[in-house]
Amino acid sequence: MTHKTKYIFVTGGVTSSLGKGILASSLAKLLQLRGYNVTIQKFDPYINIDPGTLNPYEHGECYVTDDGAETDLDLGHYERFLNVPTSQSNNVTTGRIYETVIRRERMGEYGGKTVQVIPHITNEIKRRFRLINETNKFDIILTEIGGTVGDIESLPYIEALRQFRYEHGPEHCLVIHLTLLPYLQASGELKTKPTQHSVKMLLQSGIQPDVLVCRSEHKVPQDVKDKIARFCNVKLESVIENLNASTIYEVPFLLKKEKLDTVVLKQLSLDQKEDPDLTYWKDFVTRLKNPNDEVTIALVGKYVELHDSYLSIVESLGIAGAENELKIKIKWVHSEDLTNENVVRQLGDVDGILVAPGFGVRGVDGKIIAVKFARESKIPFLGICLGMQIAVVEFGRNVLNLEGANSTEFDEKGAHPVINMMEEQKKVKQMGGTMRLGAYECAVKRNSLAHKAYQKTRITERHRHRYEFNNSYAAQYEKGGMALTGTNPDTELVEIVELKDHPYFMGVQFHPEYKSRVERPHPLFLSFINAAHEHMVQQNRDEVEE
Ligand code: GLN
Repeated sequence: MTHKTKYIFVTGGVTSSLGKGILASSLAKLLQLRGYNVTIQKFDPYINIDPGTLNPYEHGECYVTDDGAETDLDLGHYERFLNVPTSQSNNVTTGRIYETVIRRERMGEYGGKTVQVIPHITNEIKRRFRLINETNKFDIILTEIGGTVGDIESLPYIEALRQFRYEHGPEHCLVIHLTLLPYLQASGELKTKPTQHSVKMLLQSGIQPDVLVCRSEHKVPQDVKDKIARFCNVKLESVIENLNASTIYEVPFLLKKEKLDTVVLKQLSLDQKEDPDLTYWKDFVTRLKNPNDEVTIALVGKYVELHDSYLSIVESLGIAGAENELKIKIKWVHSEDLTNENVVRQLGDVDGILVAPGFGVRGVDGKIIAVKFARESKIPFLGICLGMQIAVVEFGRNVLNLEGANSTEFDEKGAHPVINMMEEQKKVKQMGGTMRLGAYECAVKRNSLAHKAYQKTRITERHRHRYEFNNSYAAQYEKGGMALTGTNPDTELVEIVELKDHPYFMGVQFHPEYKSRVERPHPLFLSFINAAHEHMVQQNRDEVEE
């Protein structure tokens, strides 16, 4: 067996939500900046084939890759940190593993054997650990195992990891365990026992972790590190403090200070190569933390109770803000709470309005009110996917006087189906993975807002929808003042709409938030934030003059 590729696994202990995704992304970034070709994949221990059918309240946003995979939101972090696209094989669930094994069983591929968790499920997990490197292009593969060690549903992954490590050897397969050091106010101490227990749990499964990353709200004193090292059988240098950061983009710096990248490369017998050049990131974090001004963006959606439902949008706004040294204050507006009576109170003081993607009729009326307000008050507006469709519906009803204009998602028999189900979607019966998904080209009209933002006439963006602009209304919309400035070159599907008589009003059928990266702020978010800032400056000027 050639051992060109090195594997790093990240497991979690003590509690969930400690930030395995950010740890993996930050470490991968440091290794990438040292000159290694790195990718990150995530294994999720739930039965859904992918998170595409999950309600955002369950699991936060569903992130979409270029090749149309509906994936866990951690993949968004991977892309924003690493600035390389992920794909179908970067996210695997238990459902996917079982689906493959059961399909093989039905084909008689197990030759009459009893099909079992061990070895059949674990073999499939191990195959998937490697699958991402089919073309052998990665030097290092980081694999995040979802869930917390000790969960029943994680057991097959932990066993697969034990075997994988045995087969590859610790020099080629490193295990990083992320734990929590709780702080007891009364005694003023960081407690190590939960970490010790969590490591014991891994040991019971036959895995000795190599590196312990300890989340802590206080500095971890040397004697505490020493204790953890001694009781958990890891080298002292491999006990890494992971303090709370004021932004996730600071975590690579904190981990570098703790020499996590150096320790990892040493244990994997890899060359340290060059010291990671974090200049760009340093400037970025400095801009992020030292803004010159603040703009308020209303994020209108129906899942606003769980901010993770809009994670990539929030991060894209923040990244674009940092580029211009602007702090983005998000005003979360629940679309179900928006009425004609309270809209001025809810949206009157914001500098930009973003109407979010979504599915189903709940909260749609409020979104229409938000669009109308943005249009009439000339507040910069960005509508994404459903947000764009709502902008089309609102314009149809209130400007073109198309009574009852609607999307057939909400009214199948309305007089004016200005948003219609896509033809190829009409025959679709199955739910998961059947929308128009992934990257498609879009031709952008010259001199449009979008053209100014992208500085290009051909762009590629990612999609996730079943409905589209009904092109039989195209001429009417254009004539009435809504320009169709972006279309798919092959199908004519409308991708971008803009208002002629408005400083910044843009609806996009695609999801720009999936392609925004730290090292490449997204042009649409940049232009939207700039417009919001200009609007704010203008408002302030008007107030002074009054
Ligand atoms: N529900 C709409 C559709 O399916 C919009 C989807 C979305 O916002 N992602 O077309």
